[in-house]
Amino acid sequence: MIEDCYMLSNSIKSWFANRNLVIATMHKKEQVIMPLVEAELGVNCITIPDFNTDQFGTFTRDINRRGTQIEAARKKAQTALEITGETLAIASEGSFMSHPAFPFVSCDREIVLLLDQKHDLEIIGQEISTETNHTHQSIKTLDEALNFAEKTKFPDHGLVVMLSPKSIDKNYIYKGINTENKLIETVEKCLKQSNNGTIHIETDMRAMFNPTRMKVIEKATQNLIKTIYQQCPQCYYPGFDVIKRQSGLPCGLCGLATDSILLDIYQCQQCNFSQEKKFPTGIETADPSQCQYCNP
Ligand SMILES: [Zn+2]
Ligand SMILES: [Zn+2]
Repeated sequence: MIEDCYMLSNSIKSWFANRNLVIATMHKKEQVIMPLVEAELGVNCITIPDFNTDQFGTFTRDINRRGTQIEAARKKAQTALEITGETLAIASEGSFMSHPAFPFVSCDREIVLLLDQKHDLEIIGQEISTETNHTHQSIKTLDEALNFAEKTKFPDHGLVVMLSPKSIDKNYIYKGINTENKLIETVEKCLKQSNNGTIHIETDMRAMFNPTRMKVIEKATQNLIKTIYQQCPQCYYPGFDVIKRQSGLPCGLCGLATDSILLDIYQCQQCNFSQEKKFPTGIETADPSQCQYCNP
């Protein structure tokens, strides 16, 4: 019996080894995802040559994204499995927003989702990073465009030019601009076409035009693998993950509960076994400045 447990707890690879894993992506994200999952899970990665993930929404507004970030990733993974008839897929989805604590700082939240229909498993890895060039600007001259380019890691990182930020017509959205000649030509053309002399420029956030974003996707994939390797202590299913964080860390001065995180609650998707882990951040008392009583 003890030996059985030992075997099971050390055999994450046996869940995935030699299975085909479909990477549901079209922006070359497999470049960072594939080496990691092949090495860590022992899978054989396959991609779908003309898988068009744009149908699930794009950053450049021509197609709105439906549902939440996780729903979008799940839908991509499900579609990839329907197309291929396989049972194991990974899809990823990014989202850019203001940092919750610093509204003037942009951040990039990347999700990498593993869907395993054979074991009825869904495991999510994520990374939130302030390392992003995500920004946009209205411009009236070519000089303004070139200044914008200089600030946004162009030409290693691509740009998008369009007549107006509300453009939805594909014919007036120029994506993937990554040479100076192309930039000058596109900006001059759009300025001529514009009714009010103003056009819109923004960073191209598609992974293959954005090495900074690609790195964040790589980190989210590492987080996914770490989460897969967390096994349920009761049934050994992979992906034993936090489902809820609870506040209530005691104040270091008076001991009253504060809003800071006290514990994480982990739960198994398979057997529902759950476990509390106290002090997930390593801090055991809250600073009195966070306390309603000591610092009202
Ligand atoms: Zn379990
Ligand atoms: Zn206190």
